Amino acid sequence: MPELPDLEVIRGFLEEHVVGTTIVTVEVVRPTVIRNLLAGDFATRLASQRVAAVHRYGKFLLLDLASGDHLVLNPMLTGRLQYCLPDDRRLPRTYLVLALDDGHELRYSDERSMGKIYLTDSLDRVPGFGELGPDALDPTLTLEVFKERLRRFRGEIKRVLIRQEFIAGVGNAYADEILWQAGISPFRKSSQLSDNELQRLYEALHLVFDQAIATLRQRVGADIHIEIRDFLQVHRRGGQPCPRCGTRISEVTAQQRITSFCRHCQPGSLVKN
Ligand SMILES: [Zn+2]
Repeated sequence: MPELPDLEVIRGFLEEHVVGTTIVTVEVVRPTVIRNLLAGDFATRLASQRVAAVHRYGKFLLLDLASGDHLVLNPMLTGRLQYCLPDDRRLPRTYLVLALDDGHELRYSDERSMGKIYLTDSLDRVPGFGELGPDALDPTLTLEVFKERLRRFRGEIKRVLIRQEFIAGVGNAYADEILWQAGISPFRKSSQLSDNELQRLYEALHLVFDQAIATLRQRVGADIHIEIRDFLQVHRRGGQPCPRCGTRISEVTAQQRITSFCRHCQPGSLVKN
């Protein structure tokens, strides 16, 4: 599932390669993920528009078009963007192909078809967008703001961390990495974390994301459709030794989500494993 670091690297790539190009033709291969929030035909409206800017907000990617329209991507679990030449083989379940005037194509594929692509002239109309908390890397999200916002949410800290209404951008994989980095059990109640633990959590959020973005920038290159996760320290490494203490990493699955953690480095968990 693309999370903040993946999308931040894709954003940087698109800024370099797609901003400034004009969409020449629009091929809707399968319309099911497309939500046109404007009147008229999606492909007709989008064709001949110039890409003026690209932004990321949480796990949304936004292409600003010169007309004032926005093409908004919410890739959810398996949405992928592919930047390639027209002759390159299409990925399975390709939904949308934008031919650019530089000779490349920007394609959207989605194995589980859960993502969405919106075309709108107002971001307020994109479902879920208005309810997002601040982006996890927003410089105005200081430690004080982070702590203040956290008070509004109840429950296990991992579940709070992945709520996009709290802060936008953290998903299941990076929540495990951040909590391991901070030495906090994913099952601790957020309201019971000490000031010191909250500071560690806030610092871990930045450290993990900054390092992941740097790693991905080096490794992803033009292959923005590939998700690289092999450098993660604990997520989905159940049974392997913890890189910090050597204890076997524990793994539990709840609500189809895998949580990986070290019961030695992240004490206080009620789960036996
Ligand atoms: Zn450990």
